Amino acid sequence: MPVRFYNTLTRGKEDFEPLDPPKVRMYTCGPTVYNYAHIGNLRTFMFEDLLRRFLEYRGYDVEHVMNLTDVEDKIIRTCRETGESRQSLVKRFTDAFFEDMDTLRIKRAHHYPAATDHIDDMVKMIKALLDKNYAYESQGSIYFNLRAFPEYGRLSHFDMEALRTGASGRVDSDEYETDDARDFALWKAWDEEDGDIYWETELGKGRPGWHIECSCMSMKYLGPSFDIHCGGVDNMFPHHENEIAQSEAFTGKPFVRYWLHSAHLFVENKKMSKSLGNFYTLRDLLAMGHDPLAIRYVLIATHYRQPSNFTFAALDAAREALRRIADFKIRLTEVRTESGSDLSVETAACEKAFGEALDDDLNISAALARVFDFVRETNKLVDDGVVSIDGARRVLDMLERLDAVTGVFDSGEAEEVPAEVLEKVQARVDARRRKDFQEADAIRDELAAQGWIIEDTPDGPRVKRT
Ligand code: AMP
Ligand code: ZN
Repeated sequence: MPVRFYNTLTRGKEDFEPLDPPKVRMYTCGPTVYNYAHIGNLRTFMFEDLLRRFLEYRGYDVEHVMNLTDVEDKIIRTCRETGESRQSLVKRFTDAFFEDMDTLRIKRAHHYPAATDHIDDMVKMIKALLDKNYAYESQGSIYFNLRAFPEYGRLSHFDMEALRTGASGRVDSDEYETDDARDFALWKAWDEEDGDIYWETELGKGRPGWHIECSCMSMKYLGPSFDIHCGGVDNMFPHHENEIAQSEAFTGKPFVRYWLHSAHLFVENKKMSKSLGNFYTLRDLLAMGHDPLAIRYVLIATHYRQPSNFTFAALDAAREALRRIADFKIRLTEVRTESGSDLSVETAACEKAFGEALDDDLNISAALARVFDFVRETNKLVDDGVVSIDGARRVLDMLERLDAVTGVFDSGEAEEVPAEVLEKVQARVDARRRKDFQEADAIRDELAAQGWIIEDTPDGPRVKRT
């Protein structure tokens, strides 16, 4: 079965056929770098990370571009209110953003173009839109004329009838949530509120609107037509709709083949908001002592098109799930049986089911469920002493491949335990089987004296450093 994705453009699941396989060109809308990313933003970045990692697992060569929005309304307002320079503000929060990406093991994109490094490119594009009569000037600002682009609304399935029959206008703000489509700003003339944030260009003194940066920079790095474009659902309208209009008006070519949007994150079933006191950044959670890997697990584990409900109970459950995997891996490294099953059939079945779940529009919850079934079944086989060293190694190799996709199976806990310690652990297991508890306890004490403790878990004994 091929990889399939739900394409917002067509409202259905489609076989994934990149334009130029095995190359996949992918653009994801990045952060506005004026504050710390909240866990909702991070959920979207995590979904995009999973998408990229899975495509790589399937053998695609992914080129990933994510923009950094370093000039727009909210940034300018913050600078005005705090007196901090734009450069200093965006530097601080760009650094914080990359720190967060690393903490959560989110793979770095290949390019992180910043809007303000591409002002000239945007000016050129806006000039071309003016020349082609897709744009017009009004009081020094330049707007995209929606009436010149009848395909507008295709992505969000916006009803354009209202626009055609009259009520319309212009909008200057970078983000507008209204459901009425209006001519939007490509270039904004400077006004006093902008202070010293402006560029002197052929279009006059001002700055680009937010939407144009993603059209301009995605096509600069990935070409006029590319495979995948992602963002959170709130980006669908107007941002992505505007990107399509600007790009296709400019090139006359189809812009993007597959549009993937992730649903929002809620906290304890409520919309996250500062006033409700349920608004969290990654730093907030780390300061409360939560494990970054458990946070990654929670943010990745819900299917991306379902709203994700972040709860502290889920965070605890995630830590437990990760511990089970870590314990399982340690047990596997302790297997010393030469005879027994090499688990080739079981591992192949598990990996196949994992891959097929993700082939189906990135169904990560089904994929993870299959892995945990496998852990439970295999733990039983290890208990029964019917797994060979080869089998254990095969499982560990498989987990390593699956970890390249999920990024949550390697907690770094699986410290190499020396062979002589493992032999003693096995001798203790044998003693207990013989019901020779004196001997078993003596071995335990001996190991303790050497700095190793044995924990008897429901999944079998686990040895670790005291
Ligand atoms: P921003 O920095 O506001 O441009 O947002 C960065 C990304 O986070 C965008 O793709 C948004 O769609 C996404 N996003 C914003 N709020 C949430 C949320 N509550 N849940 C999931 N994604 C979100
Ligand atoms: Zn964007």
